Amino acid sequence: SAGRVIVVGGGFGGAACARALKRANATLQVTLIEPNKVFTACPFSNEVITGLRDIELQQFGYDRLGTEGVRIVNQAATKVDPQQRTVTVADGTSLPYDRLVLSPGIDFHFEGLPGYDEAASEKMPHAWKAGTQTLLLRKQLEAMEDGGLVAIAIPANPSRCPPAPYERASLIAHYLKTRKPRSKVLILDAKDSFSQQRLFEKAWKELYGDMIERVALSQGGRVTSVDPLTRTIVTEFGNYTPDVANVIPPQRAGRIAEIAGATDATGWCPIDPVTFESKLAPNIHVIGDACLGGGIPKSASAASAQGKACAAAIVNLFAGRAPETPRLIGVCYNTVAPGYGFSLAGNYQPKGDIYAEVESGATSPVDAPRELRAREAADAEHWFQTVTADCFG
Ligand code: FAD
Repeated sequence: SAGRVIVVGGGFGGAACARALKRANATLQVTLIEPNKVFTACPFSNEVITGLRDIELQQFGYDRLGTEGVRIVNQAATKVDPQQRTVTVADGTSLPYDRLVLSPGIDFHFEGLPGYDEAASEKMPHAWKAGTQTLLLRKQLEAMEDGGLVAIAIPANPSRCPPAPYERASLIAHYLKTRKPRSKVLILDAKDSFSQQRLFEKAWKELYGDMIERVALSQGGRVTSVDPLTRTIVTEFGNYTPDVANVIPPQRAGRIAEIAGATDATGWCPIDPVTFESKLAPNIHVIGDACLGGGIPKSASAASAQGKACAAAIVNLFAGRAPETPRLIGVCYNTVAPGYGFSLAGNYQPKGDIYAEVESGATSPVDAPRELRAREAADAEHWFQTVTADCFG
């Protein structure tokens, strides 16, 4: 046969890659392994949490990929044998591959946050994977009385979508301002500075007055442990018992990447930036949040761009052609209130072992008329339509 490729994970990276492989060379056997029949997307899930959007708009199936010739296996991958080149799935079936692509997204690094685990997330939701967690956090916000305190614990980088916690804080403030105006948002942050900080802080002042308070790393904002029974968050500065605790734990590559032997001591996957091939496991490529992407922020926009570039590299490798040097474009929108958005765009290319930004990205000006903010909020919606159509059909 022309080549067998298995893609593990049907999120933004995996779906884009599987589709691009089949489109580039219809004779390839492309199999996508993904346990969920319906994918729930994280971008715009902050709008779901704050009652601005229905979760159905976040959900996508795999029918389109199926009709394009991608074989869908609705199970979790449980084992990878890089020597035999096989992937085992939950029911015990073993599937052979010539090349394997891993796009499992993130898992949580529970050891990095004492007291927090799967059970704790039922009390103090992370909502950092979309679906039931998204709806749980929404329910807790809706149940909270006016005058309550919502705390958001933010981990250090690298983590999935670095600006998204601040977008969430903004939209929660919007919800509280319109429904429960005596309430407050407290950000407990393991970082001193963050992406697009000046834009966020200006918007907070303009829209939310003093509703949002942030305790940065150097002020003792790093969360060191939690107690889900009493809903207590312990930081280097002191203890907090908020009414709603959104605890976003530290992260690492999805577990299957570790099982495949593709993670290093950081918990993420080092790759060759030209082909996305793992530095640690031959014939295995890693894309999306799970890989060490250098200067590229972990985002859906980056994951889908990486998925397509990886597909092109694999097609060239099968054909015995030298892979082309990918140039990736990543764009990230933040919506801080309905009709108020801003963005950051970057161009990235391999530089030595990692990706580096090749020219300074375009970021929205800090001082801009509200019409631009309104236009960028609309652009964000348009971006979501485009990227999801691109990945899922
Ligand atoms: P995912 O999209 O998470 O897909 C991983 C898939 O792998 C999942 O479907 C999972 O079920 C599957 N999987 C895992 N393990 C296995 C296994 N063992 N076997 C089979 N399948 C497996 N990005 C943006 O670009 N713009 C935004 O505005 C934006 N907003 C965000 C807001 C929030 C609140 C959050 C949390 C994230 C946001 N992101 C945004 C980031 C974006 O969601 C991620 O970067 C993106 O989903 C990464 O794609 P991925 O393919 O690596 O992982």
